[in-house]
Amino acid sequence: MKYIQEAFDTNWIAPVGPNIDAFEHEIGTYTTCKQVAALSSGTAALHLALILLDVNRDDIVLCQSFTFSASANPIIYQNATPVFIDSEESTWNICPNALEEALKYYCQKGKKPKAVIGVHAYGMPCRLEEILYLCQKYDVPFIEDAAEALGSTYKGIKLGSFGDMGILSFNGNKIITTSGGGALLSNQETFISRAKFLATQARDEASHYEHSQIGYNYRMSNVCAGIGRGQLEVIEERVSQRRTNFEFYKQNLQDLPGLSFQNELPESFSNRWLTTILINPEIANGIDREYIRLKLAEENIESRPVWKPMHLQPVFKDALYFGGMVSEEFFRNGLCLPSGSDLTHNDLIRVCQNIQFCIEKNYKFI
Ligand SMILES: *Cc1c(COP(=O)(O)O)cnc(C)c1O
Repeated sequence: MKYIQEAFDTNWIAPVGPNIDAFEHEIGTYTTCKQVAALSSGTAALHLALILLDVNRDDIVLCQSFTFSASANPIIYQNATPVFIDSEESTWNICPNALEEALKYYCQKGKKPKAVIGVHAYGMPCRLEEILYLCQKYDVPFIEDAAEALGSTYKGIKLGSFGDMGILSFNGNKIITTSGGGALLSNQETFISRAKFLATQARDEASHYEHSQIGYNYRMSNVCAGIGRGQLEVIEERVSQRRTNFEFYKQNLQDLPGLSFQNELPESFSNRWLTTILINPEIANGIDREYIRLKLAEENIESRPVWKPMHLQPVFKDALYFGGMVSEEFFRNGLCLPSGSDLTHNDLIRVCQNIQFCIEKNYKFI
């Protein structure tokens, strides 16, 4: 409220002002990323990243299939061609083998992809070492979609800072929010200064309104940046609340037959934005994720199927795909459990007991 009040008191009710500068600085410090542009959304940040990498009509962009549609939509905004890549079993994120297959295929065809978009789904760090190695080997820039992963780390370093460019989202559903907003991160100054230029209608230097390029209205407002500054002060608390949810679910559900979780690699730390489970009906006494979802709904507990992979979406039905059935199986068997930062101990007990009751009526609750 202090930062928002300041914005009103000083009349900086605009997509420019001291909260924006400070928020960018604070995000940069937090993620150890040199340059930050605060924007109107994570989607806008991804769109600008593609523009800055000169992605144009018919260019190939490789993108993790198991994600929210916002990861892929900006490829279409640029009239480029998305090619979707399967996930691997442990992190649920982009599979290095499938990625290399695609990189090799397009490079041999003389159609080197313009970018790879990898995602840290539900806050879980992807296999960054292998992915970055492949991007370097084939000389393709990596865009790190860290929209869900603020506060997560890989080898002790905050996510969002690993890609040639990284993006964050501060949409209302994310771990911290500015109501709506996002950021583009990079260690390359030219990317971020150009992003800020393009995000403010690409106005050339002149006393009148001069334009030599197409611009966008993608800047964050100074009021929203004030919300972001306040939110960033509680990020560690939020991460700890989310991780406590996960630990509770794991403790109480991991021994159920056929039930498993998304795994951290030894070198990674997830913010556990959402706790997600897989239910294998062949082992879980014939119980599937939809049965559990509907049973929870009867108890007024909302849970949701995990992301439907992009290569299965009607809107991307013509897109090419590299990989197998891994992400498809996540979609068939995966469920997002209630994961809010404000869940009480009793809420968590109630969710666990209902899931246990679905699978094993005489399961002993810890
Ligand atoms: C939320 C989200 C985005 C888009 O962010 P917005 O701020 O909502 O535009 C992009 N990618 C992923 C993986 C997301 O979850």
